Amino acid sequence: MDNQKYWDEGLETLSRSELEALQLKNLREELAHAYANSPYYKRAWDEAGVHPDDVKTLGDLNKFPFIEKKTQRDTQGVGSFLGELAAVQEEDVVFVSTSSGSTGVPTLSPFTAQDFDEFQDTEARLFWQAGIRPKDRYVHALNFALYVGGPDVIGAQRTGALCIWVGAVPSERLLFVLKTYQPTAIWTSPSYIIALGEKALQSGIDPKKNLSIKKIIVAGEMGGSIGATRHAITDIWGAELYDFYGLSDIFGACAAHCEVHDGLHIAEDHIYVETIDLNTGELLPPGERGELVFTTLRKKARPIIRFRTGDIGRIDITPCKCGRTHGRIYVDGRKDDMFIVSAVNVYPSDIEYVIRALPEVSNEYTIRIFEENYTCKYEVNVENVSDQPDTAIGEIVVNALKARIGVKPAIVNVHPNGTLERSTHKAKRVIDQRTETVAELHGEGI
Ligand SMILES: [Zn+2]
Repeated sequence: MDNQKYWDEGLETLSRSELEALQLKNLREELAHAYANSPYYKRAWDEAGVHPDDVKTLGDLNKFPFIEKKTQRDTQGVGSFLGELAAVQEEDVVFVSTSSGSTGVPTLSPFTAQDFDEFQDTEARLFWQAGIRPKDRYVHALNFALYVGGPDVIGAQRTGALCIWVGAVPSERLLFVLKTYQPTAIWTSPSYIIALGEKALQSGIDPKKNLSIKKIIVAGEMGGSIGATRHAITDIWGAELYDFYGLSDIFGACAAHCEVHDGLHIAEDHIYVETIDLNTGELLPPGERGELVFTTLRKKARPIIRFRTGDIGRIDITPCKCGRTHGRIYVDGRKDDMFIVSAVNVYPSDIEYVIRALPEVSNEYTIRIFEENYTCKYEVNVENVSDQPDTAIGEIVVNALKARIGVKPAIVNVHPNGTLERSTHKAKRVIDQRTETVAELHGEGI
């Protein structure tokens, strides 16, 4: 089995037309199920004058209304414990995860036994795609408490790999596990794997020489697809890096890198992807950059129909060099994180790209967005790891940001190395101090 290239060759290499026919069949069933069993969808679609029977092509989904995080919050707990978006009774649900609540009240994501089984089969496929094989020792270093990524370790086990359920533990303990058991693969966040590598080096462990990690999976932040961050991680660890993308509302991982590392293959048999214009909500052709909108095709407990993810990106549906035909998504950032300086759209991921490519500064940074005279500005905090004075480093950072992004930061603060706070899991690097008025004035938050 080790030599088998695909987890499910028939499914992963379907022709585009076969894949779309499968999507259409599943979409029609999912919509009919949602309409018959979810009080919210029935009401919303009746109001919008649409019906599942109207869907003859995938494009017909465009007639249906969007939902967003707010819809989930507003319908949660209404009528029943699971709320009005759910389409099954509570006795049919075997698992719930919750969102992190980083953008408000945490929302509950329920799974039936079949949903959960298909979730783990999808995860196994994505792990296999990332090269995890039965001979691997895999460390799952993600939070198990309520988090949808926690159970993904079951998917890893389905590949036949030996799985070590570590969870979110202090870095000393994780390093102990890496040293004692010499695992070959690990999943954690981009910021954490960098901080962990630095910590290892400080305590006399060289990850390249003293540890056996060959594959690193990261998710939860943009860094896994940003070249400079990828290099920062592989420099320390000497391992191959795979970026994963998950959504608490759907699966712990919905999409993942293959060995080509060009975009993340999304499980298109489970998720139908649309891209819409940020401001008008109009559908964009595949390949154009906009907000990603996801529709689940098989989830029974709580169908997700036209969910605005808040993530900005695009999908490429052309075949990949690896032979897989499922589309590849490229995520550039969160809609909420984007800010506009002098009419230029700035994504924190672009700033990260610049910082991580500069040898004179460390991998740690923070960004503060603020306003002055009703104008949006940004400040960047970096650490000097060179022999040059801080003023020279400030100049280098300003010039690099101006060259790449088009607008320079109002302030660059240069700190001594090791003085910015190290993140343990999901890094909070962006401090947004704008008032709502200015955010609205700049057309954001739409
Ligand atoms: Zn591929």
